[in-house]
Amino acid sequence: MVAYFCSEFAITEHLPIYSGGLGVLAGDHLKSASDLGLPMVALGLAYHHGYFAQTLDDEGRQVAGPDPNVWSMRPVERLEGPDGTPITVSIHIEGRLVHVGVIQAWVGSTRLLLLDTDLPENDERDRGITASLYGGDSEMRIRQEIVLGIGGVRALRALDIPVTVFHMNEGHSAFLVLERLRELTVAGERFDEALATVRSSSVFTTHTPVPAGFDIFSPEQIQRHLGWLSAEPGITAEDWIPLGGTPDDPRSERGFNMALLALRGAKHLNGVSQLHAEVSRGMWSELFPERPVDDVPIIGITNGIHVPTWAGRGVQALMDRYLDEPWIWSGAEDPTWQKVESIPSTELFAARWGGRRALVGLAENHGFELNPDALTIGFARRFATYKRATLLLTDRERLRALLKNPDRPVQLVFAGKAHPRDVPGQGFLAEIVALSRDPEFAGHVAFIPGYDMAVGRVMVQGADVWLNTPRRPKEASGTSGMKVCINGGLNLSILDGWWVEGYEPGRGFAIGQGELYEDVEVADRTEAESLYRVLEEQVVPLFYDRAANGVPEGWVSQMRRSIAELTPTFSTHRMVREYGERLYEVAAEASR
Ligand SMILES: *Cc1c(COP(=O)(O)O)cnc(C)c1O
Repeated sequence: MVAYFCSEFAITEHLPIYSGGLGVLAGDHLKSASDLGLPMVALGLAYHHGYFAQTLDDEGRQVAGPDPNVWSMRPVERLEGPDGTPITVSIHIEGRLVHVGVIQAWVGSTRLLLLDTDLPENDERDRGITASLYGGDSEMRIRQEIVLGIGGVRALRALDIPVTVFHMNEGHSAFLVLERLRELTVAGERFDEALATVRSSSVFTTHTPVPAGFDIFSPEQIQRHLGWLSAEPGITAEDWIPLGGTPDDPRSERGFNMALLALRGAKHLNGVSQLHAEVSRGMWSELFPERPVDDVPIIGITNGIHVPTWAGRGVQALMDRYLDEPWIWSGAEDPTWQKVESIPSTELFAARWGGRRALVGLAENHGFELNPDALTIGFARRFATYKRATLLLTDRERLRALLKNPDRPVQLVFAGKAHPRDVPGQGFLAEIVALSRDPEFAGHVAFIPGYDMAVGRVMVQGADVWLNTPRRPKEASGTSGMKVCINGGLNLSILDGWWVEGYEPGRGFAIGQGELYEDVEVADRTEAESLYRVLEEQVVPLFYDRAANGVPEGWVSQMRRSIAELTPTFSTHRMVREYGERLYEVAAEASR
């Protein structure tokens, strides 16, 4: 039994407890675990507000409103004991006893346990710990992470779920390491033995190549919130405090880093693409001074997506007709994928029209009139600045010429949220919205507010081209581009994250050649130039090079390769099998 811990889960848009890619990956992981029969229980937090509801004001600026999660209207149940009282566990936070309840959702046959502090028996200050996702300051963060890591382990014990392997998906849940150490030392194990036991049965997946992406708490915060741990039998401050410090800061005086705690508390480590694993080995090599960088034990398991969640109905029906069942679960080696060749081009291209029409309809609901026959480029993701949503806007003249060619029209559909504290990200968003409202670009640019799984689904099913412009190597993997493959969209992306592995000429397009730049301005200028050139010289001509029956044969042959070669590889079925074989089984064996 694997216990999978994460701070967010995107299961469905009707359960708003996610903000972006980390949550989507976690949700798709649980779905594939269920499909494959892998025994797994997941732990997260029962947020009472989702990330935020996005609207736009008259100036085109983002307005972040509340997104209340009405638990009584969700397909979930609060876990109760035999006597009908809610099951709770408790944790000390700042000298108060905080009670934590458990809300359970089923994801197929996988249980998702969501921890909830909004209970009448709690102090008002503590009821709000699970109020919102990534909404609070560092104080709120540490409390949430204590509830997730320590409360999560205690909930598993209270529910008597026998866990073999603990998986920390990103560092937010790393306090579980401390709780498991405490359990073992209280039971009489020596600290070093306890650490070996915990390490051998723990998996840690890191998701960012950016050091600023990790939570770091001050010594004062750690002492105030977790000082009680040092009074427990068999464990002292000298034992556990160093677990969160850099090697040259054994008392964690410069901060207690959750990623370091996870890296020291887990023996089985991975990054989320091959490039990201390589970057991570370099980032963390000082923790493994006895090893050369290439031997740092962080393996790469490239992300995937849950194909049945993201494939459009029209495409699914087409595949059902021409491929062998159950194609949707089939791996890359399964010959059924070769049958994509047997689908007539007219039918395959007509399926694109269905998806594009739905996307044009969604844009229409938001006041944009688009063309259901025009080459449609989609871009939807968080407006983090490294993702460079505005790269395509650098040269307005060239953009105008590209979009408004009457014989070969092109349209752009954008969506995405900027974190309410990310001022530059909100600037990028305002620039996109302004373009979508510029009469000169009318009919060619749309911005869909409220990016969530539902908007994402329509966009990945409707776009002909999926644009991805991160500053290399900051996109650890990226998953939205994987969702377009089964739907017949082609990727146009910087060679970063998963696309380093997915790209080959003839099954999508590359921006640049995987260069690394010292100077961001040079990178932006050079890569914008490459982006325009690929669009002008490759993408647009290929899409509009039509046979007598109106089908672009060259384009459709790229679609076939993208569907058949990328879908089964970048799926969570392949990914979860890999976690099973390369990490979970190894950890289970080591812990035995
Ligand atoms: C897939 C998805 C993401 C992740 O997309 P990236 O390409 O990794 O940025 C984020 N949000 C939603 C709603 C998604 O569906």
